[in-house]
Amino acid sequence: MTPVMEQAKKETEKPKKSNDISIYVHIPFCVRKCPYCDFNSGVPSSEDTFFYYTDAILKELDLNSELLAGRKLVSVYIGGGTPSVMPSMCMGRILDRISDIIHVDDDTEITMEVNPGTVNKYKINDYVKMGINRISLGGQSAVDEELRALGRIHTAKDLKEAFDMFYWGGIDNISVDIMTSIPYQTPDSLITTLDTVTGLHPRHISAYSLIIEQGTPFYDKYMYGNLALPSEEDSYYLYKLAQQYLTSKDYKRYEISNYAIYDGKGASSGKDFRCVHNLRYWSRGDYLGVGLSAASLIGDHRFTNTNELESYVSAPGRFRSEDMILQTTDAMAEFMFLGLRKTDGFMISDFERDFGMPIDEVYGAVMRRHIDAGVAERVKEEDDERFYLTDTGLDVSNQVMCEYLF
Ligand code: SF4
Repeated sequence: MTPVMEQAKKETEKPKKSNDISIYVHIPFCVRKCPYCDFNSGVPSSEDTFFYYTDAILKELDLNSELLAGRKLVSVYIGGGTPSVMPSMCMGRILDRISDIIHVDDDTEITMEVNPGTVNKYKINDYVKMGINRISLGGQSAVDEELRALGRIHTAKDLKEAFDMFYWGGIDNISVDIMTSIPYQTPDSLITTLDTVTGLHPRHISAYSLIIEQGTPFYDKYMYGNLALPSEEDSYYLYKLAQQYLTSKDYKRYEISNYAIYDGKGASSGKDFRCVHNLRYWSRGDYLGVGLSAASLIGDHRFTNTNELESYVSAPGRFRSEDMILQTTDAMAEFMFLGLRKTDGFMISDFERDFGMPIDEVYGAVMRRHIDAGVAERVKEEDDERFYLTDTGLDVSNQVMCEYLF
């Protein structure tokens, strides 16, 4: 270990970067468990579960009121699971409690994940009234055969109807998730999905590849050779096809899997629909996660709630599956591999502000190697420099990013 790394390793506390904070609320309930999903989510045992889980979230928010009070709330993200399965009254109580504790501005981004098969115009009306201003619709595909193969509860028609209901109901900042490498997916069927989804004109699209996770029914089927997945080569082709299609339609790719209407001129232009909440994750901004298995990062304190529902509701925020102060070396590595997920990468001065040392003393050699290999670039920007991965680098980002670990 070099003297620089030794010095960095000894450091455990750093000055707070900003007063901004985000809140993540995890709702672990779904109508039915999809066979590919390894998220901490499941079908609630009864309607009562929603209410006692909501009470637990409120308690955890109260517990953190000192941490939140007086800070600037930049974003709230309600994810899951399927938050839209909860009665909207529960969601209203959670958002009310947040605004009792911390000031919620008109420009605070408040996103909720929605399964297209779980909404109606009454619920949407409630969401608008409670201040939700961004929706992330789990569309995945606009081809019914693929949706059935994924075990989703919605159809392509449900996706279009849900989108229209939100749009005409008053929430026009809508993101749609789509998936590549779905069983039976072909380039033509992916084009059908892309045509349908872009035809709705969402502000934001996330395009993920299906990953077969151990412990899921898909994994077992895959191991027994019973899952009609595209080959590795075809999967890569589908992933690139989605990328080329979306960028040809005015969506800017701003992160490995995320695309948005974005003119690069800042929020004031009215054309920056990148997800504020996720950008904060990738920039290592402070965020508090509440709910089952929710993770938080406050300064360099990382902690994650238990993933056992009983333990969580018995003492919200008390049982943790992870609780640690990150060593500076770990925080540096995290800065690099989160920052490099963004197509714009990061400013060199941000690293030096956060860690109080020149980036070249820590990563100079590996950065130069990546630039020489054509997977990264370092460019001057006014009196600063920007470092980012090229398209080739983003294609092999897992291998590239590993090299920033100590
Ligand atoms: S709806 Fe989403 S969170 Fe729920 S099981 Fe399906 S993929 Fe997982």
